[in-house]
Amino acid sequence: MSQSNDRSQAALRAVKGMNDMLPADAPLWERFEEAAAAAARAYGYRRIRTPIVEHTALFSRGIGQVTDIVEHEMYAFEDKAGKDGHREHLALRPESTASVVRAAIEHNLLYDGPQRLWYLGPMFRRERPQRGRTRQFHQFGIEALGYAGPDADAEVILLAKRLFDDLGVEDLRLEINSIGQPAERALHRVALIEYLEANEQLLDDDAKRRLHSNPLRILDTKNPGMQALVDAAPRIEDFLGDESRAHLEGVKARLTDAGVAFQVNPRLVRGLDYYNLTVFEWITESLGAQGTVCGGGRYDPLVAVLGGKPSPACGFAIGMERILELLRAKQPPVEPSCDVYIVHQGEPASRLAMRVAEGLRTVGLDVILHCAGPGGIGSFKSQMKRADASGAAFAVILGDDEVAANEATVKPLARDGADRGGVGQQRVALDALTVMLIDALVGNDDPDAFDDDARSDEEELQAAAESLPRKLPHEHH
Ligand code: ATP
Ligand code: MG
Repeated sequence: MSQSNDRSQAALRAVKGMNDMLPADAPLWERFEEAAAAAARAYGYRRIRTPIVEHTALFSRGIGQVTDIVEHEMYAFEDKAGKDGHREHLALRPESTASVVRAAIEHNLLYDGPQRLWYLGPMFRRERPQRGRTRQFHQFGIEALGYAGPDADAEVILLAKRLFDDLGVEDLRLEINSIGQPAERALHRVALIEYLEANEQLLDDDAKRRLHSNPLRILDTKNPGMQALVDAAPRIEDFLGDESRAHLEGVKARLTDAGVAFQVNPRLVRGLDYYNLTVFEWITESLGAQGTVCGGGRYDPLVAVLGGKPSPACGFAIGMERILELLRAKQPPVEPSCDVYIVHQGEPASRLAMRVAEGLRTVGLDVILHCAGPGGIGSFKSQMKRADASGAAFAVILGDDEVAANEATVKPLARDGADRGGVGQQRVALDALTVMLIDALVGNDDPDAFDDDARSDEEELQAAAESLPRKLPHEHH
């Protein structure tokens, strides 16, 4: 029975603001993921994976009741009642710092001393979708838990810089600031509210709403009409005590030592309540209004707020989609690729083809086996079209002739015009097929390469397969 009325059609589309990641984009995502893991490893950070769903209270307590995230942006819901009739308040995580700190407390990670941790995964915020802003987005983040000094702040900034450099992301600028300690901020807050109240007629609706709940965030406004007002507002800088100043100077000195350029932006604040002292952002001009690709800073109060033994901490979160958009603008899309595409005709050849494919995969080759569609297996000609489009270096062709002769036909495909070791179309005995393909793929002109008695055939094939030139740019070692 057909259900294709308008409503059910609409229901089958992705949720607004939540995007599919299609295969054409996968190489770019993988490139980021591998570079992020490598950067984290280079600084001794270890991965942590926390659940996507947490108790809503974790975020309202951790991030702060009056923040944008908790006030408007959380996907929070009441779960179905459990056996005792109790309904839990749950939320999709809008960020991961609170989750990572919860996990560190819950599993006593800090008992073993400070922890360097990283995470990568989807976050959820119900904000208005626009360029650079979606409702499901991904963050790579690091958290340095148990570190108090400006060295840790500088380290997390350098880690981000190293990742951007590895990826070839250019034209980022670094802004830093100190928002001091809570007591210093409280004094600044009084002065700020007084100043903003005196200028209330110049405030937009957002700012009016935040005036008493989160006035610091007003400094962060993107409204051009309010720039002059916030520029002249009382600066947190003027309320910092000696220790806070010294901490900021310590971070600045280390960034300078490392040759990292930065600007101190006295208006830089962060949207989450738990920050203190250092805050920073990496910003690009190439993405329009949503130019912040990385936000971070120190959040010493958070561990205690979430019930742990007080412990200093700092970290950052990088918005992956924004980085990928920068990379996409620079890079040609990666073509599909594999080593071998197997085409075949007839039941005996079809069964042989699967065995050959498995054998080639066992020695490490990437193999696509042509499989039947709704219209059947297709002619040799249509199969060869698929082979060409697959990006494979070679087609292996199996028909009745080949089956009868225990042979395969190998045909180099004109992918990217690369020389396949001078190999032309040829018939090859099945038991020589693997060696022939690996030789051709490796471009091996050493005739003794497979005759080293010290190693078994299996080992040689494995070694040869591992030395194959890989196709994706992120796979070079
Ligand atoms: P903004 O002022 O842009 O709303 P934020 O302070 O809410 O930023 P953070 O919570 O610090 O952002 O998140 C860190 C990074 O994650 C941001 O700098 C951005 O790159 C990315 N990010 C945040 N929200 C989104 C979103 N809705 N869509 C895509 N990326 C996002
Ligand atoms: Mg936001």
